[in-house]
Parts: sequence; C-alpha cells; structure tokens
Amino acid sequence: MFQKQYCLVNNNTIASDALAAYFYAFSSEEQLHQALAVRPSGVGCFVLGSGSNVVFASDVNALVLHNVIQGIDVVDRAEGVVWIQVAGGVLWHSLVLWSIERGYSGLENLSLIPGTVGAAPIQNIGAYGVELCDLFESLEAIEIETGQRISLNKQQCDFAYRHSIFKTPAYAGRWVVVSVTLRLRSSRDGNRFEFKTEYGEIEAELSRRSITRLTPELMSDVIICIRQRKLPDPNVLPNAGSFFKNPIVSVDECDRIKNKFPSLVYYPLEGGKCKLAAGWLIDQLNWKGKEVGGAKVHDQQALVLTNVGGGGKAVVDLSKRIQGDVMDAYGVFLEPEPLIFA
Ligand SMILES: Cc1cc2nc3c(=O)[nH]c(=O)nc-3n(C[C@H](O)[C@H](O)[C@H](O)COP(=O)(O)OP(=O)(O)OC[C@H]3O[C@@H](n4cnc5c(N)ncnc54)[C@H](O)[C@@H]3O)c2cc1C
Repeated sequence: MFQKQYCLVNNNTIASDALAAYFYAFSSEEQLHQALAVRPSGVGCFVLGSGSNVVFASDVNALVLHNVIQGIDVVDRAEGVVWIQVAGGVLWHSLVLWSIERGYSGLENLSLIPGTVGAAPIQNIGAYGVELCDLFESLEAIEIETGQRISLNKQQCDFAYRHSIFKTPAYAGRWVVVSVTLRLRSSRDGNRFEFKTEYGEIEAELSRRSITRLTPELMSDVIICIRQRKLPDPNVLPNAGSFFKNPIVSVDECDRIKNKFPSLVYYPLEGGKCKLAAGWLIDQLNWKGKEVGGAKVHDQQALVLTNVGGGGKAVVDLSKRIQGDVMDAYGVFLEPEPLIFA
C-alpha cells in the first residue's frame, strides 16, 4: 500500500530531494482511515499538500500522507451569499478560478497562492489585505492518532497573522484537514461587490490599465499580474515563497529601530504593535542576490530564498545566516514562515 523510500523532489516547491520512509497519496477519507489503520508501527505521520510551505532539510523518517481529496460543493445560499465546502486536496488557485467562473467574490486577492485548500487554514494564508479567516466558516479534520473527526468554527481555529490553532503544540502535526467551508459573496440578487484595492501595487496596476469598474475576474487578473512580476515561479526557480514572517514588535521597539534606521518600513497595528517589513530588514543588509552553498536570495525579492543546487539544507543554512545578521543589526528575530523539516 505504501511506497517506501519515496523521493519527494516533485512534492515540494523548493525541490528538495529528501526521501520519505513511506509515502501514500489518499483521495478519500476512507483511504486515509485505511492508511492510518495499517501504518507501520512506531512510525509517525506527516501530512503533505503541495509542499509549498515546507522545507525538507533532511530525509523524512515518517509516513508522508499526501492529500489529494477532490470536490467543491455549494452547501447553502442566502441573499448575496453562498457557502461552499471544498475538499482538502483541491489546489487553492483552482478554487479561486472556480469561484470566479461562477460569479462569486471574496477569493480574488488570494489568487495564485500555491498549495492545497487543506493547508490554507494551517497558516491562515493571506495576501493583499485579505486572509483566509475573512471568508472562513468551518473545517473538518481527522485526528491522526484516533481517527476521530471534528468540526472547528472560525473562533475555535484561533486565526491570526500566519497563525492558527494548528500551529500550537497541542494541534501541530496531529490533524488532517479534510475539508474547508467558506462563505463567499454572490452576485445573484443584484448584489454589488466590494474589492480590497488599497495597496500601492494594486492601485498602480488599476490605473495603468485604466480600470474604473472592477469585477472578481479583473481583480484576480490584476493580482496574478502583480504576483507574476515579483515572485519567482517555483517551477522555474525552486522556492517556498516568503521565507520569513514580518516580525511584529511593540511601538517602543519600532521607535528604537527607527531612530537608528530612519527609512525603516513598518505598518502600525492595533494594540500598540507594529509589523516590520522583513524584506526591507534583509535588503538593507545587502543580502539580495547573494548565493551561499547552493542557495540564493532572490535578485528581486529579499524575502525569497531559492534552491540553486544545494537543496533544502543549503536554504536552511542560508536562512540561519540571514537571521543572525538581522538579529545583530536590529535586535529582531526573524521567524521562518515555512515548516522546516531538519
Ligand atoms: C511562490 C510562493 C508564493 C506564496 N505566497 C503566499 C502568500 O501570498 N500568502 C501565504 O499565506 N502563503 C504563501 N505561500 C505559502 C504557501 O503557498 C501556503 O502556506 C499554502 O497554504 C501551503 O499549502 P501546501 O498544500 O503547499 O502545504 P504544505 O507545504 O504541503 O504543508 C504546509 C504545512 O501544512 C500542513 N498541512 C498540509 N496539508 C494539510 C492538511 N490537509 N491537514 C493538516 N495539515 C496540513 C503540513 O503538514 C505543513 O505543516 C507561498 C508559497 C510559494 C512557494
């Protein structure tokens, strides 16, 4: 049933050629239950979607469970609103395109984010002012240890910036998200959509195209165009997207750094906090374009680390050097965004 010593090179966007001790792709909940029931004793499990937010710096001595469950269903409707339940193995961007084709709105700003729907709640994916939690209704998950099925609502998932309950010790690595239910806006009943456009790059692209009346399709196209311009395609240049989270610090801490670095890029948040632009912190230290041991900081985007031959370990080694420099210069810890399998 399981493939042994399976090479993961085509199952992660950083193209690490790590070996999984066991590998199994499940396309239904039944198959997942069967796999859990007969898994080799003493072997842990690791749930894998598209591998776009994980870095394999070593082999994986576990059963890698690859989620490919498919299906999208409209489960409820109300005036101007539609609820859809999406299976965990559906590719996120294909869901975005599916929703746009049907005239639903809400997912446009999240266009072209790689990965599966089942992984989207894990770090509460977000881009251009929209996060998964803005559209999230509930999810269904199966506990690896017991096979128990639970449903969690938005409050229970405890979403925050690139965070959910699935990143806490009590939940991390212990559940398989099998489906996610989202609440989208529907144009039926003459409902007009509102779009999140208050980002410099979006405004610039809209004015470049002289767009005055937006549709979900146009908005998605604008986002795709912006992303394709600034982010390297993992199929061409293996990478895991933004390698570090934007650090959140107190206003006092932000002021301290700003006094020393007046051009610091940051965003004030509620509750006396500020979000620092991690890319700016790295860029100022002249890391952009540098290559060390087969890993490279992307020429155009200091937040993106690419594998140029050294594999996952080289990328992780490079990330540690950057973390050290950022700590020395600003006294700020850069937390990696992807899960690192060391
Ligand atoms: C080029 C590029 C651009 C990106 N842009 C963005 C962006 O704009 N915004 C953003 O938020 N992220 C972005 N990412 C990160 C990534 O796309 C998301 O985190 C995505 O949700 C990961 O999905 P995946 O299926 O690849 O997850 P994987 O990488 O396979 O897994 C990531 C984590 O989720 C767990 N997991 C996966 N599936 C499940 C499941 N069904 N149940 C339980 N746990 C699971 C894994 O065990 C692992 O801990 C980008 C990545 C790349 C490569």
